[in-house]
Amino acid sequence: MSTDPRLYVTQNLQSGQAIALPKEDAHYLINVMRRGEGDTVRLFNGRDGEWRARLVEASRKTAVLEPVEQTREQIGVPDLWLLFAPVKRQKTDLIVEKATELGVARIAPVVTARTQSDRIKPERLQLIAKEAAEQTERLDLPELAGLEKLDRVLDGWDASRTLIFCDEAGDETGQPWGGARGRGRPMSDTLADAEAGPAAILIGPEGGFSEAERQRLRDHDAVIAVTLGPRILRAETAAVAALVLWQSLQGDWRS
Ligand code: SAH
Repeated sequence: MSTDPRLYVTQNLQSGQAIALPKEDAHYLINVMRRGEGDTVRLFNGRDGEWRARLVEASRKTAVLEPVEQTREQIGVPDLWLLFAPVKRQKTDLIVEKATELGVARIAPVVTARTQSDRIKPERLQLIAKEAAEQTERLDLPELAGLEKLDRVLDGWDASRTLIFCDEAGDETGQPWGGARGRGRPMSDTLADAEAGPAAILIGPEGGFSEAERQRLRDHDAVIAVTLGPRILRAETAAVAALVLWQSLQGDWRS
C-alpha cells in the first residue's frame, strides 16, 4: 500500500490540470511531511476517484500539484447516516472522526430535550471529517448536516429510510433504566432479519431521550427501536457499536 501523503481537495482532478493547495494543506505537506518538488501525493475529491499527483512547486507557503494518473475509480460508502445529540466537544469530535472512519455517508447533529450542548463548530467538524477521510482511504467526505431539532428532523423524515433508534431504556417507571419491559430488540437480530436499504442510526445525549421523545420515536412508522445490550454505553461508544453492527450486517463489511 502506498505511503504517499493523501489529501482531499475540492478541485476537479484531471491530467495536467495544476492544483494549488490551501495554505494549511501546503504547510502540512511541505513543513510537516517534508515533501519537496518531484514527490508524489495522492489526491481525492469525492468525485474523480484517487489520483497520483506530482508536487511541481513547493515553497514554505505554497504547494502546487499536478495530477498524473487515476489510481482508483470513485466509489462511495453505503447509504448510512448517523444522527446524534452533540455531547461535550471532545466527544463530539470523536464521534465525527469514528463515524467517518466507519464509512457513514452523512452525519447529522440533532438537538434533543436533554442535549447538553446546542452549539457546534461546523468548520471544526468539517476539518475532523476531512482528516479522518484522508487517513482512512475513503474517496469522499461524509456530508455534515447543520444542527437541527429532533422534532423537525422527524417531521420531514423520508419514510423509505429506516431510522434505527438506539434506546437503552425500558418502560417500567421507577425501575433503573426503565426495567426490562418494553426494551428494544437487539440491534443484531433486527438487522439480520431486515432487508438492506437506506438507514440512519440515532444516538441520544448523555442524559438519554425524554419520555415524550421515546414515545414519538416508537410511534413513528420509519423507526425501529433497538438495544445494544444490557449495559448502558456512553453516547460515543454506542455510536461506534451501532455503526460496526450495521456495517457488518447490512453495509460494506459483508463479503
Ligand atoms: N439514559 C442514560 C444513558 C444515555 S446513553 C442516562 O440517563 O444517563 C446515551 C445514548 O447512547 C442513549 O440515548 C442511546 O441512544 C445510546 N445507548 C447507550 N447504551 C445503549 C444500549 N445499551 N442500547 C441502546 N442504546 C444505547
